[in-house]
Amino acid sequence: MSTHLLQKIVSSVAILLAIACQSGNTNDQPVQRERDIDRIPEDQIVRWVATTGMIGDALENVGGKYAKVYTMMGPGVDPHLYKPSPADLSYLENAHFFCHNGLQLEGKFSEILETSWGYRRTYAMVAGLSVNDLIDIDNYEANQDPHFWFDLNLWSKAIDSLALVISQDLDGIFDILQANSLRYRSELEKADEWAKQVIGDIPEDKRVLVTSHDAFRYFGRAYGMEVRALQGTSTVSEFGVRDVTNLVNYLVENRIPAIFPESSISPKSLKAVIEGCRKKGHEVTLGPTLYGDALGETGTPEGTLIGAFRRNVINIYEALTGNEYQETDYE
Ligand SMILES: [Zn+2]
Repeated sequence: MSTHLLQKIVSSVAILLAIACQSGNTNDQPVQRERDIDRIPEDQIVRWVATTGMIGDALENVGGKYAKVYTMMGPGVDPHLYKPSPADLSYLENAHFFCHNGLQLEGKFSEILETSWGYRRTYAMVAGLSVNDLIDIDNYEANQDPHFWFDLNLWSKAIDSLALVISQDLDGIFDILQANSLRYRSELEKADEWAKQVIGDIPEDKRVLVTSHDAFRYFGRAYGMEVRALQGTSTVSEFGVRDVTNLVNYLVENRIPAIFPESSISPKSLKAVIEGCRKKGHEVTLGPTLYGDALGETGTPEGTLIGAFRRNVINIYEALTGNEYQETDYE
């Protein structure tokens, strides 16, 4: 590694350490997963730091035993409000690469790192997509919606170049990583098709997904659901009485039976909406919690993107139809 690059990394880590100390960071434990790495010589391993669980999951699937991935944000952590912890920074100091969303999902710190480290050492998942894939947002700093992982077809496209990126400093492993990538992408494709069938079985007038914040636009576009939320694209933006009233009116007019809290946001905000509907004579159920910007516990099916996605689809189907999901209907 060049001295110049090292200096840049040290200075960016110093900036981030200052941010972490100011914030009195108390984030949940990060996730570090290590798989099969003992059998690989150290110089054959690429050490990655990923911001969100979805990104860490993609790196592990494509990198396999050649990628040692440290994921900053564990279950229940809201990326919009995240500040890196001292532990994150010490992993960053020793990492070869840093991978983030690319559309300011994680606020400002990922951009600080990208600028300081240089583009060769950082990878933004959005780099695999074209402008036409993205949903434009007016009142959001990055101008485009960062929540593109819940359109699995789009996510598959986003990870297409990961095999090349991960293997760039290592000889002879591109083919292995490319095979990992193809396998993972076919699993994403399968889950994508399954979701289209399950959501398609919800009566059309009930295909409305109301959540805490606007994380499901890509999901709605891909799987045919209308989406509404109390908060905007980022949870940094506050919501007011008018937002609650507008949402209540929408739910009452359209007789929507359930709304959904998200695992990384307190469900408290949605309680005012439910109460508002009740006053207007319409009962809305607080549906099961959806995985929005964070995955579930490591080691459970929901600790992977596909597992969390499947759980969301089943929960949405059951809450909006009142029917129990039957796996045998979709085999
Ligand atoms: Zn979000």
